[in-house]
Amino acid sequence: IPAVRRHLERLAAEGIDVVRVTYPDLIGTERARDVLLDHLPAACDHGLAFCRAVYHTSPQGDTVAVSGGLDAGLPDICVVPDLDTLTALPWEPGVATCLGDAVDPATGRPAPESPRDLLRAVVTRYGEHGLRPVVGPELEYFLCDAAPQGPEGSRGWRRYNTTPGAIYTAGLRADPDNHLLRTLRLLHGLDIGVSSGNHEYDGSQFEINLTHSDAMSAADRAFRFKAAVKELARGEGRLATFMAKPFNDAGGSGFHLHLSCLGDGDENVFADPSAPYGLSATARHAMAGVLAHAPALAALANPTVNSYKRFGPDTLAPWLIDWGLDNRSALVRIPPERGPGSRFEIRLGDAGANPYLLIAATLAAALLGVQAGEEPPAPLEGYGYDDTRSAVLPTTLSAALDALEADTALTEVLGKDFTASYLAYKRDEVARFHRHVTDWEFTEYAYHL
Ligand code: GLU
Ligand code: MG
Ligand code: MG
Repeated sequence: IPAVRRHLERLAAEGIDVVRVTYPDLIGTERARDVLLDHLPAACDHGLAFCRAVYHTSPQGDTVAVSGGLDAGLPDICVVPDLDTLTALPWEPGVATCLGDAVDPATGRPAPESPRDLLRAVVTRYGEHGLRPVVGPELEYFLCDAAPQGPEGSRGWRRYNTTPGAIYTAGLRADPDNHLLRTLRLLHGLDIGVSSGNHEYDGSQFEINLTHSDAMSAADRAFRFKAAVKELARGEGRLATFMAKPFNDAGGSGFHLHLSCLGDGDENVFADPSAPYGLSATARHAMAGVLAHAPALAALANPTVNSYKRFGPDTLAPWLIDWGLDNRSALVRIPPERGPGSRFEIRLGDAGANPYLLIAATLAAALLGVQAGEEPPAPLEGYGYDDTRSAVLPTTLSAALDALEADTALTEVLGKDFTASYLAYKRDEVARFHRHVTDWEFTEYAYHL
């Protein structure tokens, strides 16, 4: 409690009167409750009640709640603020935000589907091996303007700028309204470690990089990043979307993870100048783990029915389960730096992934490889999309969920309760998708049949 008092005094001195307590739910959506400063000590004592349900849209377009395997009459979940994450919201004077941990009110223990606790548990396993993972997130997204009329705007949104010059790192000519610069500056004030941003391959697609750090901080910052980019765009009447593949005529949005690992002496244990490719045995085993568990990993890294439309040959997104040296056509790319900079760039995840689940599951897969001492196949040579040696990633969410259910080594690390909740929620999502009649079906069939 003295710690809470100290925080309160500091916040009051900074003119803060409201703390927005947020937590990531199962699908990584930001859930928030605004708390008056005076009530923060009580919130820290008892936690804040949130309805446990995760939300989705029904075919009629209204938002309905499901409990996704937590089907006990939409019970509460308790969110306990983590005051170490308090940060002033630069664009909302007087408001600070703070992340919270989801606790089961009946037991006082971490809720089984709490993404932060899941990641914490995986990081603890690394600690038992004297290892500390280091993670750098890279997220891509599309920016849209409202477009109520016309075929291009039939969903109510169209891409903000699609002039032919809108290509990779095109700078201002692809961003006439200086969206990137404005967003980068505002995010800098949020203290989430943004480092740089660029226009991406497709018109109105942007990437902003976050600095690398320990895994929990990386996940917290990626989660806040996504929520903040959406909030800032909304404030301008725009839509920023991290969904995997929002448009038929553009590529998808990735959520690349840079991964390395520190040992007891803070040395990068992925580096070994005397080993093949300058990569240590630990790095090779971790690589083998990521590749071996990739089909199951996809269920968390590529968590929507839309995710599988991002994969494919010639997309810069992966398609096959392979790795390569500075090769962007592979699922895992080894960037050219060696020594302390030795790391993987894992290109599997899409931007729609829950950062906590993506990072936790990726780390779990890598650690399973280290524990088993597995060896990866030889690296890819040349253009990877043509490689006939490698297995293809799951092509649907349903197939990825089957792979997750069958991967008992991975689900043992993620936990029985978490896996059951996640599978139930996602199986229901697949079923809802299959019941829905899409625009494509109407165009394909209605006129000819
Ligand atoms: N947009 C690509 C993806 O979906 C990645 C492009 C890049 O290499 O930055 O993963
Ligand atoms: Mg990119
Ligand atoms: Mg990248």
